[in-house]
Amino acid sequence: MLSATFRSVCFPSPTNHHHAIVPMLSLLRNLPDYAYAGAAYFFSKTFHRPSMVKLTPLEDITVLTPLVTRVLGQNAGPFTLQGTNTYLVGAGKRKILIDAGEPNIESYIETLKKALSDGSTIDGIIATHWHGDHVGGIPDVLKLIGKEVPVYKYKRLEAADDPKVNYTFSDDNTVIKTDGATLKLIYTPGHTTDHFSVYLEEENILFSGDCILGEGTAIFEDLHTYMDSLNKYLEIKAARIFPGHGPVVEDPHSKINEYIEHRLKRERQIIASLRESASPLSTMDIVNSIYTDIPITVKLAAVANVKHHLTKLVKDGQVTALPYDTYSLVVSTTTESGERPSL
Ligand SMILES: [Zn+2]
Repeated sequence: MLSATFRSVCFPSPTNHHHAIVPMLSLLRNLPDYAYAGAAYFFSKTFHRPSMVKLTPLEDITVLTPLVTRVLGQNAGPFTLQGTNTYLVGAGKRKILIDAGEPNIESYIETLKKALSDGSTIDGIIATHWHGDHVGGIPDVLKLIGKEVPVYKYKRLEAADDPKVNYTFSDDNTVIKTDGATLKLIYTPGHTTDHFSVYLEEENILFSGDCILGEGTAIFEDLHTYMDSLNKYLEIKAARIFPGHGPVVEDPHSKINEYIEHRLKRERQIIASLRESASPLSTMDIVNSIYTDIPITVKLAAVANVKHHLTKLVKDGQVTALPYDTYSLVVSTTTESGERPSL
């Protein structure tokens, strides 16, 4: 694998002597890309435009198993797909809510009220991670149920959590019990530093937050810990995954492997585009060459993902970071067979 990666760049390339002028030109060339992608992102966020991609339709309230009911967050969009999935867990009237959707979405609170209309109440909330589409609705839910309940969450590492919510910060493997249900919090960083997945013992179900989605692929902040979390998922051997967005994942094993393979494929694509280019490439150049089938609204997320891949490749010593957000492949001094190249 590695020798194939380093192959082909055996000759001292003229681009090595281009100083900073080539990288700077690429920065200027990419400005319209950034402006366009930024405008599209802002527009979709502001007006909650649904995604252009065809998605599996999901009901507002779905009884998924004897222990789990899914309540849709009523916040569809390019990043939230059909909206955030929130889950009521428990056999009796005392439920645990996993995630609470976005703030000030009246239709979500109405839907949740309907799901609780058999006299059920919420005795605790689990927040999978700090993003607004998962924790934003917590104050509204607390107002609906009219009492303070524990809100379990892993503490963010890089910043403070929202002080408006009185979190019960919890450790890996914390167990929460309610009527007929045992929920175990599993620390799975990568998408964010504070990401919890939740394992329902009685039904062998894994709630994956944004680590794995029902459709499409996830974004992440740290590729290394993200890959570790995916490998942790393989060990759990859950029968089904209930994701933070999108439909139920019926075959976790192949879905997890698909995610792992997808990241490895992106890495190979990034290396290939750097190898094929005569001059260093910017992050946006790489996005433009390998993300050919994504809506413009999520282009900035693709830029972030490629940057994380590049950070990892620089750490691995496979890629060199140059000025103005440009990158080149590390030049190998030996051929595949290990001999010095002839010039
Ligand atoms: Zn989310």
